[in-house]
Amino acid sequence: MGRGVQEEFLPKWFKWFKGVRGICVLLFIFCVGIIFFRTCRWTGGETETTDEEMVDEYVECHDFRKTLCDVNDVQLAVAQRVGISPVPNRKALETTRRNIIGIGTCDRYKLDELTHSVPYLTPHTKEALCAIADAFQDSLSAGGFRMHRFIITSVLRTSEDVRRLRWVNGNASENSAHQYATTFDITYKRFDCIGDEGLPINTAHLKDILGTVLERLRREGRCYVKYEVKQACFHVTSRL
Ligand SMILES: [Zn+2]
Repeated sequence: MGRGVQEEFLPKWFKWFKGVRGICVLLFIFCVGIIFFRTCRWTGGETETTDEEMVDEYVECHDFRKTLCDVNDVQLAVAQRVGISPVPNRKALETTRRNIIGIGTCDRYKLDELTHSVPYLTPHTKEALCAIADAFQDSLSAGGFRMHRFIITSVLRTSEDVRRLRWVNGNASENSAHQYATTFDITYKRFDCIGDEGLPINTAHLKDILGTVLERLRREGRCYVKYEVKQACFHVTSRL
């Protein structure tokens, strides 16, 4: 009897809300809430998102096969004109004085573990490399992106390195521009993140920024560039 009296005092809407109907209504409100929250995120609505939550969904959009297509003959001709004469082997490199300087990992770029080359370039080629690295990092800063450095995968090859490489890879050219200390490869498959501030950025986006920088420096007459599909790198020869 007591229970009946208590229910008499409850509002009508509360009685209706009890039981299974109540659960269904709560579920409906919950689902609508989720949909509303996600819509706000996707459309850039008023809901704020932090940098960490934002995913860079950039998809590669440049075709560098058409714009960075300086073939080996073109790169070889300039390498032979401005570079050193080929070095027979590593030992000869140590004992001969040549107009080359060493390069190593720094804030601007990272040197990969070199298997078929040694880290030496002519002074002008090193300048071109630094100009590319600076322009790449300037573009990242201008876009508010997290700082990265690109990775160099091949530098100067001695004649012996070329022979060894041809043994591993039959397609490698015997007349490689890499023998003149004017040429280096930058991979576009991997980049090294060196900062934790700024917007996250994916590899496709980094590759497009690097390729765009190379297009500009090539137009300015600083270098020749070949977009290598099989080796997944930009093959760069300094023209100075
Ligand atoms: Zn190369």
